[in-house]
Parts: sequence; C-alpha cells; structure tokens
Amino acid sequence: MPTIDDFIQPKEWVSEFIIEVGKMIRRWGEERYIPIRQQVDEDWRDHVLIEPLLKEALVDLGLNKGMFPAEVGGADSSEGAAGICMTAQELARIDSGFATACLCSTWGMMPAILEPHRSQEICREFGPKFCGPELYVGCHAMTEPASGADVENIGRMQGRTIRTTATLDGDEWVINGHKIWPTNSGKLADLFTVVCTTRRGSTDPNDFALILVPADTEGVSTGAPYRKCGMNADMNSDIWFENVRVPRRYRFHGPGDDLKYWRRAISSGNLASAAMCVGVMKSVYEIIKKWTTERVVAGKPLKEHSLVADMLSEVALLIESTSAWMWCYAREMDHPEIYRWDPWDERFLLKTRGLSLYASNAVEQACSRAMDFMGSYGYCREFDIEKHWRDQKVIGLWMGGKGLKALENARYWYDLETL
Ligand SMILES: Cc1cc2nc3c(=O)[nH]c(=O)nc-3n(C[C@H](O)[C@H](O)[C@H](O)COP(=O)(O)OP(=O)(O)OC[C@H]3O[C@@H](n4cnc5c(N)ncnc54)[C@H](O)[C@@H]3O)c2cc1C
Repeated sequence: MPTIDDFIQPKEWVSEFIIEVGKMIRRWGEERYIPIRQQVDEDWRDHVLIEPLLKEALVDLGLNKGMFPAEVGGADSSEGAAGICMTAQELARIDSGFATACLCSTWGMMPAILEPHRSQEICREFGPKFCGPELYVGCHAMTEPASGADVENIGRMQGRTIRTTATLDGDEWVINGHKIWPTNSGKLADLFTVVCTTRRGSTDPNDFALILVPADTEGVSTGAPYRKCGMNADMNSDIWFENVRVPRRYRFHGPGDDLKYWRRAISSGNLASAAMCVGVMKSVYEIIKKWTTERVVAGKPLKEHSLVADMLSEVALLIESTSAWMWCYAREMDHPEIYRWDPWDERFLLKTRGLSLYASNAVEQACSRAMDFMGSYGYCREFDIEKHWRDQKVIGLWMGGKGLKALENARYWYDLETL
C-alpha cells in the first residue's frame, strides 16, 4: 500500500544523511508535537508551549546547526537545499507554522554562513550561540510598512523603497527604521538580520546592506504578537530601530556582495515554501485516505465513489508534481558544477518564484478539495484539515505574494523588460 514515502524523492539524489534527518523529525513530531498540536495552535500570544518545542527542535534535534561550520559546532552540510526540502516538508507535515519558525531561525544568516561566501568572523561570533545548548533564535527582517513585495522585487525596485537606514559612524553602524511581520519577531528573536539601505532612495546595489542586530541592543523595541488566521506557532510583530548602534563588522560582506548573496536566501525561501506545501499536502493525503476509507456513504466507502476518487487522484497529482519539481530545483541549487549557475544567480531566483507559486496554489487546492469531501468534519478542528487550510494560505502571500511570484516567473521565461 503506498504511503507518503512513495511520492517522488529521487533516491540517487537524496543522501542517507538527509533521509535520517527526515526520519528523526518525523519520530519527534509523532511523539512530542502531534499529540498537543491543537493546544499549540492556541498558544500564539504567549508561546508557553511553543518555545520549549522550539528548543527541542532547534537545539536538541540540532536543526539550528545545519549550515554552520563544524569549528563552531555546526553540521556544515554540503546538501543545503536538499536538507531544507527534507526539514521543511517533515516539519510542515506536523505544523507549517512551526516549520516556519524553525526554518527562519537561520534563514537570514544564509548569506553570511554558506560556502563559498562564508564570513568566518560572523560564524565565529554567532555560530556558538546558534549551535550551543541554549535556545538562540534568528529573524530575517525585510518587510516594511510601505510594502513587502517592493523590498523583495529587487530586480526592478532595486532597493529604492527600503526605508530602514544604516549610517556608518566611526566603527559603528547606526540603524533607524521600522520592520513589520518577520517570523520569530516579538519577544522570541535573539538576533535580527536587518535589510537596510545606506542611502535612502538609492538603486545602487552597493547601498543594499545586511546588518546583524542583537535583539537586546539599545534602541531596539518590538510590538505585541499579531493575531493571524493561522500559522500560530510563528510569532510576528513590529520591530523598531531607533539610533541602534552595532559594530561595523556586523555588516555581512559589504557593498555589492550583501545583495548578491542575499538572493540565495530568497531562492532558498522559495524552495522552503514549496517544501512546506509538500509537507502539508502529505498530511492532507494521510487524513483523507483514512477518512474516505472508513467513512461509508451510500453503502460503500467514500473513496469508492467515482467523484471522490477523482478528487483523491487530483490531490495525489498535486503532491507528485510539486515534489518532483522541488527536488529538481534543490538539485540545481546543490550542484552548480552541473547546472552552470550559482545558487545566488538572479535568474535562478526568478525561476524559484514559479515553483513557490505553483506549490502554494497546489496546497490551497488540496486543502480545499479535502475539506469539500470531508464535509462538516473537514471544517471542524478535530481532524486537522481545518488547521492546514488556515495555515497554508499564507505561503502564497508571503515573500512578495502571488503577484510578485507570477511576475518574476514571467520575467524569467519571457524576458520581460518593463515589469
Ligand atoms: C506568517 C507570515 C510570516 C512572514 N515572515 C516574514 C519574514 O520572516 N520576514 C519578512 O521580512 N517578512 C515576513 N512576512 C511578510 C511577508 O513576506 C509580506 O507580507 C509579503 O512580502 C507581502 O508584502 P505586503 O504584505 O506588504 O504586500 P504588498 O507589498 O502590499 O503587496 C500586495 C499584493 O500586491 C502584489 N504585488 C506587489 N508588487 C507587485 C507587482 N509589481 N506586480 C503585481 N503584483 C504585485 C503582491 O504580490 C501582493 O499580492 C511574513 C508574513 C506572514 C503573514
């Protein structure tokens, strides 16, 4: 009998190590998270349950360590993209909000910690915190009140709308600005990667800056957690920076290179978003398979009715197609020597927007179709379809939303010149 492990996952591409990571997360989720998933969903404001669970995942299971060098306690994985896919899909099968919180902890660090653009100085200073025995959480602060999509639409807006400024004063950066929405903001984050400009209104790539700001720096303040439709394990809030001073060395690379390597984080975010969609769809598959087997309607199991079989087939196709596409792009990212472009290449970023868009449409459709055929049972909390349905919607909305995703995908495939 096929299970979720029979959906495409090319055996010759995904190493034993990555498969073991997936199994470890699944075991942990079954024992520690799934039994209290509904309670966790109510914990959005205080994170009384969520914070200890984050410690278990990021510290005890070691998910924070993946990309850091071994010298500072990291796992130094050379299969970064495959690892992201496995981790994101397994965590999202448990809870996509929790997956978001875990993955975003080191997301903003990627431009500084991945080879071949690794900053040893930043790894030495912050690696032991992320890889140590205490919970240490990162946050990638890009979005601003004026527009999130404009900040991410770097190919066309070129940073001109970024309002958060970084000004060099002697050996310190002085940061002023306001970020909204970042995952792990509020009281949770210990360290912010802040997307800044060194000259407001500039379109010069040299003015785009990624600067680390420890959350306890004077002048940093955060707001209350937002009340959202779903993704409750992910805490989001405002962050204000008022004359915040950090050492000059906290800028990742410097003029030009900050923007260049940031693109890799954006492509990885698109890939992780797709993997989360796969994870949610796998959970949906498990739920509807059981339900339509056990529920008897008009004298036979629900799944034996042709209309229902059509829906079940549709969900399986969505999982299979999204998985195949996701693993292909992960392969491209992890093997630039074969595919002949760097993972931070702007063209690759544009392509990954297409994957993310496809995956978010697929998961939306899968959750909605599953609910259609579970009837009122799908709409109540008990069977978790309702939770996935609420949670998944934002995967299409974040990282620039569906508009930017479609636009950038078209920009790649059709050489758009004005959009
Ligand atoms: C749960 C959650 C987690 C998040 N995590 C983070 C995080 O970790 N870090 C972070 O910085 N932000 C984060 N965000 C914010 C998120 O990434 C932004 O909300 C998103 O980028 C969209 O920005 P916006 O809401 O300002 O929409 P807008 O920029 O106002 O866009 C509105 C709509 O217009 C579309 N659009 C924009 N430009 C164009 C165009 N040129 N052509 C066509 N359509 C266009 C967009 O696609 C979107 O559909 C998170 C948000 C949520 C809900």
